[in-house]
Amino acid sequence: MPGEPIGDALRRASRRIERVDARLLLQHVAQCSHADLIAHAERELTVEQTSRFDELVSRREAGEPLAYLLGSAFFHELEFAVTPAVLIPRPDTEVLVEQAVRVAGAWPQPRIVDMGTGSGIIATVVARLCPGALVSAVDVSPEALAVARANAAKHGASVRFLTGDWYAPLGVERFELIVSNPPYVAEGDPHLDRDGLPFEPRIALTDGLAGGSGMACIERLINGAAAHLVPGGWLLIEHGYDQSVKVRERLVGTGFADVASWRDGAGIERVSGGYLP
Ligand code: GLN
Repeated sequence: MPGEPIGDALRRASRRIERVDARLLLQHVAQCSHADLIAHAERELTVEQTSRFDELVSRREAGEPLAYLLGSAFFHELEFAVTPAVLIPRPDTEVLVEQAVRVAGAWPQPRIVDMGTGSGIIATVVARLCPGALVSAVDVSPEALAVARANAAKHGASVRFLTGDWYAPLGVERFELIVSNPPYVAEGDPHLDRDGLPFEPRIALTDGLAGGSGMACIERLINGAAAHLVPGGWLLIEHGYDQSVKVRERLVGTGFADVASWRDGAGIERVSGGYLP
């Protein structure tokens, strides 16, 4: 409907998708604020804006996550670019950042590496919250690293990015802190078919091993950590809602000390870690 007033477009779309989603998509397409939408509901969309809006509403209706349609999502009160090459930031990860900042505070200039950085939210927020830290970030996906680089630059975070498979690009480097939100959902978990997950990169969600427990990447991170931590260095890993016992067992079995888990905002043990004496 060319020449449609934005107020009418919003009402029409709200019958198909959540009103808040319709409003955010409309603001995105019409390049206006929430206040503009209310104050100028009679403003007309152009033909291009109408067809773009209708396309986005249809994609949302089909289950595509809002973050991919908008091209951004918030984490720790910062807006980050996201594309389908990266996992959408989740509030689950906030506890990982909190623990990373707490642990890093023990050193004036900690070397920190974020393994499997994806959109770069962990590396970016940690770099901003730990001004003395030297932050690196690794990912196997060049497409993800392009997003991460842009996000770090946008938020003025100094992060060194490396492409490669887990520890491979780090050579013999050692760190005071290794952090990671690795893929940990088991292949075959019904959750993968819901909540927009089919639109997210499978490589960021699962280890790809049919019949596995989702622990393969976590185990690689734990097993390889000793070669990349200084004495007293910490490893902090985000994991699934039912993996904390297994992760702590692996950490203790590998020689980590002060092994513990921390709960996310929903009260679930979401991050586990310890240090290597
Ligand atoms: N917490 C995410 C989910 O269950 C998965 C994130 C991850 O695999 N690192 O949707």
